[in-house]
Amino acid sequence: MNSFDLHMASNSKALRPAACPCCSAPVSRSIYRVESIPVHSCVLLNSAQAAHAFPRRDLDLAFCEACGFIFNKAFDETVMGYSTNFEESQHFSSTFNNFAKGLAREIAQKCAIAGKHVLEIGCGKGEFLRELCISGGATGLGIDPAYRADKGRNDEYGDVKIIVDFFGPDYQHLQADTVLCRHTLEHVSSVSSFVRLIRKMIGKRTQDWAVFETPDAKRVLVESAFWDIYYEHCSYFSPGAHARLFRQEGFDVTDLELVYDNQYIVQYARPSAGRTTPRLPLEHDLEVMHRLAETFPARVRAVQNSWQERIRAAHAAGRRVVLWGGGSKAVSFLTTLQLGDEVWAAVDINPYKQGKFTPGTGHPVIAPSDLLDTPPDLVIVMNPIYLNEVAQSLKALDLRPEIVAV
Ligand SMILES: [Zn+2]
Repeated sequence: MNSFDLHMASNSKALRPAACPCCSAPVSRSIYRVESIPVHSCVLLNSAQAAHAFPRRDLDLAFCEACGFIFNKAFDETVMGYSTNFEESQHFSSTFNNFAKGLAREIAQKCAIAGKHVLEIGCGKGEFLRELCISGGATGLGIDPAYRADKGRNDEYGDVKIIVDFFGPDYQHLQADTVLCRHTLEHVSSVSSFVRLIRKMIGKRTQDWAVFETPDAKRVLVESAFWDIYYEHCSYFSPGAHARLFRQEGFDVTDLELVYDNQYIVQYARPSAGRTTPRLPLEHDLEVMHRLAETFPARVRAVQNSWQERIRAAHAAGRRVVLWGGGSKAVSFLTTLQLGDEVWAAVDINPYKQGKFTPGTGHPVIAPSDLLDTPPDLVIVMNPIYLNEVAQSLKALDLRPEIVAV
């Protein structure tokens, strides 16, 4: 994660509600609105009181008919700020670790990183960069304001250095053979300026790679997955919108794929002398995005109503409901549906989250073993990809609740 936008403060007026931050076309269509949601969803709060008092803002998603990009036109970047208090790591899950290892192998091979240098913008806790550099025989530099060297977490260090800061114009002198940026672009509001800066940083190094991994917003629209929409994510890309932005800013997109149960876009690009022409199958999604944007408001309302009714009915019947996952999806799910006592707690396997409280609603985040004292009747898994892992954890605890995924 990073906040490039803090460095663009002098240009903050550039994000006028009417101008698309990707292609600058005028945008007037709003497709989704939630009021008063926490401005951060992976920050940790030490008390329910602090969680309730957490700053809130509105979210108002606008759809650009010209390029298919979706953005929060009510986004207020002055309330954002990332610090070492963030806990976004998913590396405590074996499902996620297997995915990360596979992706690291793929990047190492496609970008031939052996003996080369990798720069990761928004490296989080640095787990992925370290994995990539150690297994691929490369050196690495990560940059992230939320980096924190926890004891026991970063033991196998490898040849990786970290700068604890936001990426911005101050770092455009950095040189690397591969520029990596995972789960960061969705946090940036001035997206075209951000990609332009990376292109400028690469300069004449035509053999460099730029590898981006970003959540796929098309899937969010298809599945009415409102739990994947939250304040920290001010920018939402379909695969086509993602590639269009890079082509516009002087990259040639060579590979565009969907990974992790089709939840994430992985894009490989090379610098080019100017704008490039679309040529990959996944890029041609503008018409589909128009149709999805058209029907999204009614579909998402129906999905929200259905979850609210189901959870309220379970609670009224005396059943204990818990969420599995104490991250951004859970925070969005709880705050968007305005759930309170209807949900007992959020379970998370990340020990750094346990004992804390979810921003906004103040639900406690507990360890799986805490469920032994308070056995759940209904477990809602916040990401279907973890269904098996969660079912096994519950079985190991000898618990037999009903398990459903969002
Ligand atoms: Zn646009």
